[in-house]
Amino acid sequence: MNVHSPHERRPLAQSTARRDAAHFIDGAFTTGTTGKSWQNLCPVDGSAIGTVPEGGEAEVDAAVKAARAALDGPWGSMSVTERTDLLGAVADEINRRFDDFLEAECLDTGKPMSLASHVDIPRGAANFKMFTDVAKTVATECFPMPTPDGAGALNYALRRPRGVIAVISPWNLPLLLMTWKVGPALALGNTVVVKPSEETPLTATLLGEVMNKVGVPRGVYNVVHGFGPDSAGEFLTRHPLVNGITFTGETRTGEAIMKQAAHGIRPVSFELGGKNPALVFADCDLDKAIEGTMRSVFSNCGQVCLGTERVYVERPLFETFVARLKQGAEALRLGRPEDPATGLGPLISKEHQGKVLSYYRKAVEEGATVVTGGGVPAMPAELAGGSWIEPTIWTGLSDDAACVTEEIFGPCCHIRPFDTEAEAIRLANGTPYGLAAAVWTENLSRAHRVASRLDVGICWVNSWFLRDLRTAFGGAKASGIGREGGVHSLEFYTEMTNVCVKL
Ligand code: NAD
Repeated sequence: MNVHSPHERRPLAQSTARRDAAHFIDGAFTTGTTGKSWQNLCPVDGSAIGTVPEGGEAEVDAAVKAARAALDGPWGSMSVTERTDLLGAVADEINRRFDDFLEAECLDTGKPMSLASHVDIPRGAANFKMFTDVAKTVATECFPMPTPDGAGALNYALRRPRGVIAVISPWNLPLLLMTWKVGPALALGNTVVVKPSEETPLTATLLGEVMNKVGVPRGVYNVVHGFGPDSAGEFLTRHPLVNGITFTGETRTGEAIMKQAAHGIRPVSFELGGKNPALVFADCDLDKAIEGTMRSVFSNCGQVCLGTERVYVERPLFETFVARLKQGAEALRLGRPEDPATGLGPLISKEHQGKVLSYYRKAVEEGATVVTGGGVPAMPAELAGGSWIEPTIWTGLSDDAACVTEEIFGPCCHIRPFDTEAEAIRLANGTPYGLAAAVWTENLSRAHRVASRLDVGICWVNSWFLRDLRTAFGGAKASGIGREGGVHSLEFYTEMTNVCVKL
């Protein structure tokens, strides 16, 4: 995880002047022509942050055509060095405007500033820096071959940009996850049209200012706001000039986008939902396991795709572990983003709060023992309009209960005992998802053995959310298609041509 040294910042409360979002198309901000818009609400207290225009087919078409023109024009003819220098400047400018991005992200999401200043915003900048390094060192294969006439032939591969990339992003880590796609796409020579989540429009809009400031040619980075079905999201993923779709979000949405991508046979890269397990063995370092599981269950109010919602604990440690995690959950302080003591912000919206609460009720109906939480906390009057939720722990559910098999995306987990390593592996692999897992053990052989048997894209041993951006990132089973990160991003963001030269 990246660390940004803390410094004096404006309290969020003093910077809540209205902020209207705008589309960013062909280097210019516009509210478009649909006449449709919605109010962007702050989840901390339900107050209106500003208006967001809803893009229609005309806005999407203009953005895609601008992206195509930039590709065929100045961006396409730039050298790798010119391109990566510009993207390095984008990273520097994000860091220079760190507080603007931080405030925008915390207004949109309500997450603690202590979290966003250590994770979301530094990673937003790092995503640009990292992929400039990848782009500068791309090498390709070369196969000399014999031919019947003895002269031989030479095969070599060229990697070309894929083209116009549609980036559809979610609300939980808005800048981080959006730039995780925009960074490699641009570094490898593509242009992008971004459809940010309707819940979090601000940092994508702000990034448009950064692009103009550092001189990224118009049309290279475009943003169209809107919703999914029958709105900007669907129009973008159906647009015939889009050459690839990279999406982060719910598995169900991925299914819809895959159908939309089928028109014109466009490739997809999907980072989808999870129901991630933590496996805690009796030989673990308990303090570390508790600290790691606290973060993996409750960080970002449980709204992290890689977060843990199922905890399996070896029986001798079970009672102690449950008691320690309960103690940790009950010590979490709910509060405003700018308060350094805040450990837990609100959920993203009232709608999501309703969904998480429906699981809290279902857990009780399914026979859970509620160890702690399970409802809506009493908050001070000025925060009563926010979408607050109690951190929650259950035990006693059956392995096929909805709360054990379905992604909830809230600050909650179910803890269940196990007796053998084989049983723990079977339980961990027992859902349709396969995004991430955490294994807590001091036994080196066990750690490697278990990691190799878990059907997931990312397995942490004695840690969680420790990310090296050069590594392959993605999910197994219903948690995704493809891998991104480091050189793995070449797979989706470039098209390969094999050149065969008869000598
Ligand atoms: P979501 O699927 O509801 O929305 C994501 C984006 O898709 C939004 O911008 C939305 O407007 C758009 N969209 C919705 N329907 C669409 C359609 N038919 N066509 C085109 N676009 C459409 O997801 P969310 O609620 O914003 O985010 C939470 C989900 O994201 C969770 O399931 C979480 O696990 C997942 N997620 C996964 C990863 C990962 O790396 N695997 C990372 C973060 C979040």
